[in-house]
Amino acid sequence: MLDKIYDCSPHFIQNLFVSGYNILAYKKRYGGKYKAFRDLYKLNRSLSREDLLRSQKSRYKNFIEQAIANSEFYRKLYSDIENPQDLDNIQRLPIIDKELFRTNINDITIKSRKKLVSSKTGGTTGKSLEVHYKEVNLQERFALLDDFRSRFGYKLGKKTAWFSGKKILTIKDVNEKKFWKYDYFNKTKYYSTFHLKNNFLQYYVENLIKFKPKYLVGFPSTIAEIARYGLDNNYLFPDNTVKAVFPTAENLTKQMRELIEKFFHTAVYNQYASSEGAPFIFECKNGNLHLELQSGVFEVLDECNNPSTTGRLVVTSFTTEGTPLIRYDIGDSITLKNQNLICSCGNNNPIVKSINGRVADYVYSPENGKINIVNIANAIKDVKGIISYQIIQNEINCLNFNIIIDKSIYNNEEEKLFKKNWRDRVGDNMEFNINYVNSINVESSGKHRVVLNNIKDLIEKTV
Ligand SMILES: [Zn+2]
Repeated sequence: MLDKIYDCSPHFIQNLFVSGYNILAYKKRYGGKYKAFRDLYKLNRSLSREDLLRSQKSRYKNFIEQAIANSEFYRKLYSDIENPQDLDNIQRLPIIDKELFRTNINDITIKSRKKLVSSKTGGTTGKSLEVHYKEVNLQERFALLDDFRSRFGYKLGKKTAWFSGKKILTIKDVNEKKFWKYDYFNKTKYYSTFHLKNNFLQYYVENLIKFKPKYLVGFPSTIAEIARYGLDNNYLFPDNTVKAVFPTAENLTKQMRELIEKFFHTAVYNQYASSEGAPFIFECKNGNLHLELQSGVFEVLDECNNPSTTGRLVVTSFTTEGTPLIRYDIGDSITLKNQNLICSCGNNNPIVKSINGRVADYVYSPENGKINIVNIANAIKDVKGIISYQIIQNEINCLNFNIIIDKSIYNNEEEKLFKKNWRDRVGDNMEFNINYVNSINVESSGKHRVVLNNIKDLIEKTV
């Protein structure tokens, strides 16, 4: 219903909608203990390594005790384990992989759901997931993120260009080549990440040059695509305008970083988190990635689950009291630097050499351009009854979907919604072949890939 009203309102009213929606969201994120967390993390920026480890250990104890008291899943799982709340015994706790997490999510989530905030994710494995956050945990997460960004001068209300996965445009906007909405109160301009084809990118670049944002936040693949277009077409982005670029949600590749830094004449400061609520990794002014020990425990494990300097990342996240993440195998791998190294930036948290995250995959629509993996993942987040799915692109004008459904839940309405979500992303002209299947092939590595784009070479030549 709200969608309908939004679609039929004039542009300036839609801008107000965007502002109004944000005021509600901001209240949850920036109310309560947010300010106290901001003060705390500002104060803690120069904690010694010893103090960081001490705080991690005590926070871990409290977090595990709470999980055992409030989550049926963990209570049962740890019933035979001696002193599970002691960080020194973390290896006694079973590792939870994504599939185990997803199938047990109801028992993992704490019973008193009063005031929990639901967060649905499409999931890059082709399966959707719903986790719940305590408001106080959300406030802490935003305080941590804002503390990181504030080290580069960012705060809410400074001119910012934002690139996230929300559908914000109507057909009229697209016809008028207006690919953004402006939140007047917070001086934040939201750009669509669904309309990245070459003919449209010109308007993005010209609008950004006119807008002169101090910060860019959002999908690095989108920002890089705009930068690439700007560079290829000899646009000059004004010098000394952008103070920093903060990527979110996707893995940042070296190539994306180079394009963005070159076009916008600025530096990119990366972060790592996830929609399930993983603890944070933040980049500092020296270009080093720091594990934020105050937000959780990071284990790097080899194939035999022994600690290693390079391997699978297994996380325990203190800000997930609603749906606790404890020894969660998040599906990424990282490489650590020598753990005794202390960075000269003043942050004494350990340093990561590299995050070897998900592959930057996409599908291509001749009408709208590249659709990145996060926007693909989000296409199923409100569709009920999809157990797993995969998109295969073998032709420029056609998408093949293989979908495993739960027949007791999935119906015509859900199929309609699925198609609508995809139309929002790729436009009206592509052909869809939907196949309901019983199984989906996995890679030889055992990984399920949501997107198989078999015509990337052709697309790279076209754009
Ligand atoms: Zn540093």
